[in-house]
Amino acid sequence: MSMGLLKKSVFSAAAAFTALLCGSAQAWWEDGHQKVCELAMAQVQPETGAALANLLEGPLGNQCSWADDIKGKRPDTRSWHYLNAPPDTRRISAVPRPEGGDIISALSEQIYLMKQGSTSQRREAVLWVGHLVGDLHQPLHLGYAGDLGGNTYRLQLPDELGKKLQEKRDTVSMHAIWDGLILRYENDGSLAPLLETIEAPSLTNPDAAILAWADQTLTVLNDPKVHYRHGTRLQALDSYYLISNRPAVDLQIYRAAARLAALLDWAFSTKS
Ligand SMILES: [Zn+2]
Repeated sequence: MSMGLLKKSVFSAAAAFTALLCGSAQAWWEDGHQKVCELAMAQVQPETGAALANLLEGPLGNQCSWADDIKGKRPDTRSWHYLNAPPDTRRISAVPRPEGGDIISALSEQIYLMKQGSTSQRREAVLWVGHLVGDLHQPLHLGYAGDLGGNTYRLQLPDELGKKLQEKRDTVSMHAIWDGLILRYENDGSLAPLLETIEAPSLTNPDAAILAWADQTLTVLNDPKVHYRHGTRLQALDSYYLISNRPAVDLQIYRAAARLAALLDWAFSTKS
């Protein structure tokens, strides 16, 4: 695709994305995944869209949480959704890969199956790639092993804020905050200028690309605003936290969508 065409499709997808964000309460773990996949489908080349319509049973956007839904049936795949990186990790390539699988290894394998596998392998691989690209951009999926990626790092949830978030619990995990609560908190929806700066990457080496994307996610995780690093941790959640981290969440979702589109084109388009 030419840069002009690429830009145009990215801009129109940005408008669609902004419209989506202005609506109802969203959670990364379901609606967020759907959003990543729908935005990606809006950006792929027409022949990629046609190939996927042939291959899949129904729209990709409706199937992007399938990988979470099958965790009970396929417990061996639970570890495919994350990679725990120790504190101060700058490069994800330096993190040892556990034998049971991890998000980088799983994504790499599924990307190649998506391009070269049998028809049934390709069908399943698209669902994996659609989901895992989303997970790779949720910073807590690269969090520390010691707190299970922020799942045991719990913050007090003040009553008033809990009501606004429709969340009854007294405490919430940092993982859940990034999975859904930041997105669920009210916002003015004026994100277009930020989103329009994002372009779908040109892709020649998917393995190198996913490592670079993961390194960028680590940068997001280590931002002082996130308060994830030891010594900077928060006792309680407040609205300032949710508001100040919203741009990062939106940016990560939009990056994920553009990159997923590039991967789908790499696997299904004969043009480049
Ligand atoms: Zn997941």
